[in-house]
Amino acid sequence: MPGDRPRTSVGTAAVIVIVGGGPRGTGVLERILAHESVNADPTPIDIHVVDPYPAGAGRIWRGSQAPLLWMNSTTADVTMFTDETTAVIGPVLPGPTLAEWVAERSAELAEFPEIAAEVPTITPSSFASRSLQSRYLNWVFETAVDSAPAHVDVRVHRRSVVDIVNVGETQTVHLDDGAVIDATTVLLAQGHPDALPAPRETALTSFASDHGLTYVGPGYTADLDADVIPDGEPVLIAGLGLAFIDWMVLLAESRG
Ligand SMILES: Cc1cc2nc3c(=O)[nH]c(=O)nc-3n(C[C@H](O)[C@H](O)[C@H](O)COP(=O)(O)OP(=O)(O)OC[C@H]3O[C@@H](n4cnc5c(N)ncnc54)[C@H](O)[C@@H]3O)c2cc1C
Repeated sequence: MPGDRPRTSVGTAAVIVIVGGGPRGTGVLERILAHESVNADPTPIDIHVVDPYPAGAGRIWRGSQAPLLWMNSTTADVTMFTDETTAVIGPVLPGPTLAEWVAERSAELAEFPEIAAEVPTITPSSFASRSLQSRYLNWVFETAVDSAPAHVDVRVHRRSVVDIVNVGETQTVHLDDGAVIDATTVLLAQGHPDALPAPRETALTSFASDHGLTYVGPGYTADLDADVIPDGEPVLIAGLGLAFIDWMVLLAESRG
């Protein structure tokens, strides 16, 4: 029943909905809060961050994935913060790179079993696991929220947005639990959305099915099930990008 759904309405406040709490959504949030922290004439702002995955890391960098899946950037090259080299309007608010962040709290991070062996080995030129990067991104998000000035309220919804409808000057954002948010601004920070299978992938699925083979279509590796491929079977991988490296790790190193 539409009338029973929780509804957040636009009152006197600006209501901003950020769809996607990955690195881009987190960066946008940090910048909004940085600007508002020096706003000489503040008015209330409600910010809603909507993502079914943990805010900060989001889907790509979520901690709940095989620790053998790594980043392809070195820890010294990863930062979510502005510094004197950043061309940006608004306050420059420096913060640690991933390398500096790990060095500052290595003892604390080594308490987590999935990254305990990795943490002592991290140098500025290391390639970190996505599990470790996950913790950095979640910290960046929480640090940004903690910095919010009094006139800004940030709420996180662990849901998916299923529809956005224009209604006069506002937009209604529909979440998959039936909740509705009336927004004055909607920011889409969804990364690479999933795609329906292309004709080639549909044909490969049929071919595999007809010949008693297994076909795994394109997708984000952490979302796919490597266990459908039995040990010792010949495997053909199409493509030599990031997902190729992931599959090599999942089918070889992770199986010993
Ligand atoms: C396997 C892999 C490895 C990578 N490695 C690196 C690397 O080493 N270094 C690097 O710099 N970049 C890397 N990238 C690139 C990566 O895309 C970016 O680092 C970064 O994650 C992009 O951030 P984003 O916020 O734009 O998108 P994402 O990280 O994809 O975040 C988008 C978020 O939007 C959410 N979302 C989508 N639709 C909805 C919806 N309808 N409702 C609510 N939420 C929604 C998703 O759940 C997700 O959390 C890698 C990408 C992949 C796929």
